[in-house]
Amino acid sequence: MKVVLQNLTKIFPSRNKKGEEVVAVNDFTFTIPDGKLIGLLGPSGCGKSTTLYMISGLQKPSGGQIFFGDDDVTELSAENRGVGLVFQNYALYPHMTVKQNIMFPLQNLKGEDKLTKTEMIERAYTAAKLVQIDDLMDRKPSELSGGQQQRVAIARALVKMPKVLLLDEPLSNLDARLRLQTREEIRRIQKETGITTIFVTHDQEEAMSISDMIVVMKLGVVQQTGKPQDVYDDPVNLFVAKFLGTPPINVFNGKVADGKLYIGDAAVLDTPGVADQEVTVGIRPEGFILDDNGPLVCKLSGIEVMGRDVSVVSTHEASLNPVIRSIINADNKIAAGETVSYSLKAHKVMIFSKEDESRIYF
Ligand code: ADP
Ligand code: MG
Repeated sequence: MKVVLQNLTKIFPSRNKKGEEVVAVNDFTFTIPDGKLIGLLGPSGCGKSTTLYMISGLQKPSGGQIFFGDDDVTELSAENRGVGLVFQNYALYPHMTVKQNIMFPLQNLKGEDKLTKTEMIERAYTAAKLVQIDDLMDRKPSELSGGQQQRVAIARALVKMPKVLLLDEPLSNLDARLRLQTREEIRRIQKETGITTIFVTHDQEEAMSISDMIVVMKLGVVQQTGKPQDVYDDPVNLFVAKFLGTPPINVFNGKVADGKLYIGDAAVLDTPGVADQEVTVGIRPEGFILDDNGPLVCKLSGIEVMGRDVSVVSTHEASLNPVIRSIINADNKIAAGETVSYSLKAHKVMIFSKEDESRIYF
């Protein structure tokens, strides 16, 4: 099911007389293609959950429209939208078994959708198999691990065979290893079922690793949408550049003069066609080339071995981060010394306006 968001807006009224209203989601227009997994990504408070709740029907937009396929569902109640929703805290019913929890959404189906008990159990087992918990059906939630509980919540969201699956930070309560494993599972289930899925997270790595497309939000406003790799390679502004990537992009004060980019006194790159101005420079960690004659000379702080690669940690007066991290292939021999010199890969260097942090292309 294709999902279309058109100028979707949510304004919360102020809670006190002086307070300002909160524009939680501001003019969000986007088409989610049928059968894809979309990662909705941004820092806490940027409007991800609010967007999800409007799509689910739990919250009413202040403006704009939502379409499922060609149908305008903006005024349709949550029960009638055919969405499955999974929250960060699994919200299972503690007194019910796993089977009863999964079957629960089926019990209120009415009219021609009404199911017999046998049909409900069958559907519950199908959903449970999908998330591989069909051998735990008689347990209570308290007898399950966090990862298993989250699978029950996903099975419960899938049991009604939703047209759209909405996941709100579903992995946040899991430990690191389970998080990795469960996100792969979610990807597998999504591919197997072909259900259009929106996956909300503040974790860029999580979103990048499983999404067909990502949407990056900041303060209620969509900054950029696209394939994860495209957004990483070609961010439209400094916020997006900084939000994606581990280790994060290295940021410097710089200036453009006579078609050259300077960091400190060193001309590090040609930037033909860019007007003279002060700029912010972003360099991806993989954008540095060890080069004794390279123009960017940094003070060496240390070398961290990471197996295939090493991370060279250094500092520079113009750096806006406490340290610069470059990722270098471990085959390179790095001479211990006071300084480390780099030349740069042009396509890994980005410059941004000092005024509005937008990208300046060269
Ligand atoms: P996220 O899920 O990205 O962390 P939310 O969508 O929960 O962000 O919140 C977006 C903004 O809207 C925040 O500033 C939050 O404080 C505000 N907000 C969310 N829900 C309400 C509400 N019910 N009443 C008032 N403000 C709200
Ligand atoms: Mg949230």
